[in-house]
Amino acid sequence: MMGNRKDPSPLYDLKYVGEITVDFRFTSEQEMFRKSVRDFMKKECPLDFVRDCDTKEIFPRKIIEKMSELGWLCIQVPEKYGGIGCGAIEMGVFLEEVARGMNGLAQAIYSSVIFAADYILRYGNEEQKKNILPKIVQGKLFFSFGLTEPGSGSDAASLSTSAVLNGNHFVLNGQKTFCSCAKVADYIFAATRTDKNVPRHKGITTLLVNKNAPGVVVRPIKKLGHKSMDLCDVFFTDTFVPTTNMVGNLNEGWINILDNVSRERFYLSAICVGAAQAVLERSLQYAKERFQFGKPIGHFQLIKEKLANLQMELDAARLLMYRAAWMIDENIPYQKETSIAKLFSSEMYMRAASQGMQIMGGYGYTMEFDMQRHFRDAKLYEIGGGTSEIQRLIIAKGMGLGS
Ligand SMILES: Cc1cc2nc3c(=O)[nH]c(=O)nc-3n(C[C@H](O)[C@H](O)[C@H](O)COP(=O)(O)OP(=O)(O)OC[C@H]3O[C@@H](n4cnc5c(N)ncnc54)[C@H](O)[C@@H]3O)c2cc1C
Repeated sequence: MMGNRKDPSPLYDLKYVGEITVDFRFTSEQEMFRKSVRDFMKKECPLDFVRDCDTKEIFPRKIIEKMSELGWLCIQVPEKYGGIGCGAIEMGVFLEEVARGMNGLAQAIYSSVIFAADYILRYGNEEQKKNILPKIVQGKLFFSFGLTEPGSGSDAASLSTSAVLNGNHFVLNGQKTFCSCAKVADYIFAATRTDKNVPRHKGITTLLVNKNAPGVVVRPIKKLGHKSMDLCDVFFTDTFVPTTNMVGNLNEGWINILDNVSRERFYLSAICVGAAQAVLERSLQYAKERFQFGKPIGHFQLIKEKLANLQMELDAARLLMYRAAWMIDENIPYQKETSIAKLFSSEMYMRAASQGMQIMGGYGYTMEFDMQRHFRDAKLYEIGGGTSEIQRLIIAKGMGLGS
């Protein structure tokens, strides 16, 4: 069947099949890097620390600072801006290993620095890159992305926070919601409406808003999981933002946001894969140690099935995630594939946490064990970075099924 190249079905189109890499090995440098991150996580983020950050809602700033000393914060930033210039595969390795040790730390790093560094690197001007990127790499500047508003979630382009240009500054009015890390951030990376008289995708501009500027108010929102990372509403009232804080061109922000959000899906996929790896390891260990009916529960076929499924789905998610990373590195259009990776990984992580809890029985449901934290954290990934429904629409669009 596969050899029949005359078949016109796209499934047998060489280009389609050729998008899948055939050499699955990491380089020795990548393997060494994985080991270093794993060792670091083991030493610096023991379970007690992870639990403390969750129950006491502590932002892991100290660990982030230690990572920056090692040059690990935003490893994608090129050397000339203070980074080490790694590609997406290395970012995948990094986030996977950090999330395996502490999912909340990986998410906090993504939300407070990686997103902003990526955005400035790709769309900022030279002065912004020179001034801001080294400070991000050194762990001296934190950000929060303000795209979502009370009236615009999945339909993000309908955002209404207005920024009126007045000489050398903008005047901002409006409200952002669900801003991760806004409490710890120095700047809100805000998507704003700068022209109301053009089609909605064409009047959006991204601005770096100093959180301490007059007229900015941050109000925390209580949430189910990811307790070590805050979530906030952010209000702007006649807030002045200098035009030098505009990242990208006036009214051309939407296309950049779409591209950045598409790469975000790869990063979130890497976090889900690492976190699900931790779930699998814990579930497997428990299945070997917990005895019922005179045997370890892992000897029962119904438990074996759960663990085998978990392993299979995790492998599939990991392959999809690294395929997306490879496409980003190779500059191959990746919108559909980052959505596939994020959708599959997030739903896989949610299923893994649920099955992990089932394997642990009543103990998994208690706060004494960590499975409940995964269960609470996993749900975010089916919502944030675009819901599962929206990912399916993007994938279908990439398959030629309309807009
Ligand atoms: C913990 C957390 C952190 C977040 N961090 C950030 C952040 O840092 N910055 C930021 O800007 N945002 C952030 N968000 C917001 C997140 O991106 C949005 O919640 C998400 O995009 C969905 O928007 P919404 O919540 O308004 O849901 P809605 O868009 O109102 O959707 C409600 C439901 O309708 C479905 N739906 C909507 N449109 C369609 C459609 N066309 N077809 C089928 N179904 C549809 C959705 O899938 C969903 O099930 C965060 C959210 C959470 C929970």
